[in-house]
Amino acid sequence: RVAVVGAGVSGLTATKCCLDEGLEPICFEQSQDIGGVWRYTEHIEAGRPSLYPSVISNTSKEMSAFSDFPFPEDFPVFLPNARLLDYLRRYAEHFSLQEHIKLGTTVVSIRKHPDFATTGQWNVVTEAGGKQTSQVFDAVMVCSGNFSEPSLPLHCFPGIERFRGQYFHSRQYKHPDVFQGKRVLVVGMGNSGVDIAVEASRVAAKVTISTSRGAWVLSRVFEHGYPWDMVLNTRLMSLIKTNLPRPLSSWLINYKVNQRFNHENYGLQPEKSCLVREPVLNDDLPSYILTGRITVKPGVKEFKDSSVVFHNCPEEEPIDIVVFCTGYNISFPFLEESVVRVENKHASLYKYVFPTHLQKPTLAVLGLIKPFGGIIPIAEMQARWASRVFKGLCQLPSQSVMEKEVNEKKKNQVRWFGLTYDEVLKTEWLVYLDTLASFIGAKPSVLELLCTDPWLALTIFFGPCSPYQYRLRGPGHWEGARQAILTQWDRVLKPTRTRVPAGSSSSF
Ligand code: NAP
Repeated sequence: RVAVVGAGVSGLTATKCCLDEGLEPICFEQSQDIGGVWRYTEHIEAGRPSLYPSVISNTSKEMSAFSDFPFPEDFPVFLPNARLLDYLRRYAEHFSLQEHIKLGTTVVSIRKHPDFATTGQWNVVTEAGGKQTSQVFDAVMVCSGNFSEPSLPLHCFPGIERFRGQYFHSRQYKHPDVFQGKRVLVVGMGNSGVDIAVEASRVAAKVTISTSRGAWVLSRVFEHGYPWDMVLNTRLMSLIKTNLPRPLSSWLINYKVNQRFNHENYGLQPEKSCLVREPVLNDDLPSYILTGRITVKPGVKEFKDSSVVFHNCPEEEPIDIVVFCTGYNISFPFLEESVVRVENKHASLYKYVFPTHLQKPTLAVLGLIKPFGGIIPIAEMQARWASRVFKGLCQLPSQSVMEKEVNEKKKNQVRWFGLTYDEVLKTEWLVYLDTLASFIGAKPSVLELLCTDPWLALTIFFGPCSPYQYRLRGPGHWEGARQAILTQWDRVLKPTRTRVPAGSSSSF
């Protein structure tokens, strides 16, 4: 029996992967519906993520699909939140997950069973309708997400206590009308910050984004109009990125991201251009800067009564509203710190999934990773691996080997990429997927396919690494995988090629 905490993307796929392995999952969801971060509600619920209604997925549908369940072909290439939720509902229905989900049930605590050292079992206390229940589970999958607890580090902003305007965290943001006619400051250049600044600038008197580090801004609409992740996340590109000497790969990344516009000219250039930072996906920002609707400024030095002073800028800027788009903290209130310890937004987990120090590998954390690509295939792969570890079909290395790898990774990434702990969470999407896939025997072999199915092999190597590649072989093999790979571009073009002029070829 496996307790799954949360029925968002990770919880749904965890439940499905447990069923695939013949395990018995019970998924506990504190709210009254599935969907996690992708279920928009107009009011903000404590302990739940909160979206603004205009959120659109940053990764394309072909690169964000569960590996045995492609998005419907008529869905848009990037998904408005309601369409993504629709997809999650279809997934839950298709694989009959609902009957394994207990809605309105909060996980209060997860503690090691007294026999943990021999059984690996957990005591899980849940609460529903004011009544607590304690049950024993053989394993736990933590899928509680990491966008529920806003990080609002006001101590980093001197003078904020005397600022007389309004301020709030991006989690509170829903609609742009609050900015009507106002002078707005958006703090933080993550995806929330840029989305909100763009929306605000359509109604506000003035919008400024303050960024201490700058960011690479990519467009969803990439080279030749194809989705960015289908162009960048290919096996060929990954091979080049991981094998080129570092200065060369840095140069390549620089070249690629500056192709559309020069980040330096737009005030966006990251502090250290080689620094790996989650890119911002926004199609509007460059043109909004160009047309003066948004101004980019350095980090905040201090707030005054009704203005702000930026680092290295002598003049004060009058401000009416500040939106702190300063991200989220991670926490697992139902777990003891000795099980998963979070430090500087970082939990030391082997391959971002398993605590390294438990006598039995019966607890996995899913989705606690910020990859350069879709999170759905990642969470699914983590669930496939974890469920096989629980069953004893995959072994973890010894504690010392896992700890060494976790520490090395932390150290190396800090040295090579200049990463902070928070950013250690960001990893190479394809390499990570391949690594976990190789643990469960589902990594595709391009060389083998070259002999047996050369067209498929070439599509896999030169084309986008769509998640169906991980269902071609091994456990969880899916008959439809080959066809899904060969038709991936059709599903991309279907919703956009809605007018084909007479005489033009109907294929692309
Ligand atoms: P985030 O990516 O964590 O960015 C927070 C930003 O706040 C930092 O990059 C930093 O910006 C600033 N910041 C943090 N601590 C600070 C401090 N102490 N002082 C000053 N500035 C500080 O947060 P987010 O934008 O809310 O995004 C959260 C996650 O949701 C991300 O993974 C994001 O990709 C995702 N998201 C996705 C979508 C979408 O799919 N469409 C939309 C929104 C968010 P500077 O370095 O620039 O100062």
